[in-house]
Amino acid sequence: MMLNKTEIILSLIKNDNKIFERATEIRNKHCGNEAHIRGVIHFSNYCISDCLYCGLRKSNKEMKRFRMDEETIIKIAGEIAQKGIKTIVLQSGEDPFFTREKICSIIRQIKKNMM
Ligand code: SF4
Repeated sequence: MMLNKTEIILSLIKNDNKIFERATEIRNKHCGNEAHIRGVIHFSNYCISDCLYCGLRKSNKEMKRFRMDEETIIKIAGEIAQKGIKTIVLQSGEDPFFTREKICSIIRQIKKNMM
């Protein structure tokens, strides 16, 4: 039976508890032994890139595209914060609509509203 590289790595990891023990040690040291909940706002699935593994890639013509407006993103972030979630992740494809200035403005407004 031939194993590919991924199967070999998974087989080695599966049989080596030391890797999991060490990973637990490192996680406990940096994050503690607790779950951290993050609010993810996926605000656009437009993307100018074409990574083959990704459903958002520009050549995927089957994808129904969406893009939130800035007010909606800020509003949702506020709702997440009101639920006590302290970390918000802004996630999108590589959407040129959202310039650096727009993203900075959105983040500034979110942070202002959270104070
Ligand atoms: S969303 Fe990210 S991973 Fe997906 S095609 Fe765009 S750049 Fe690549």
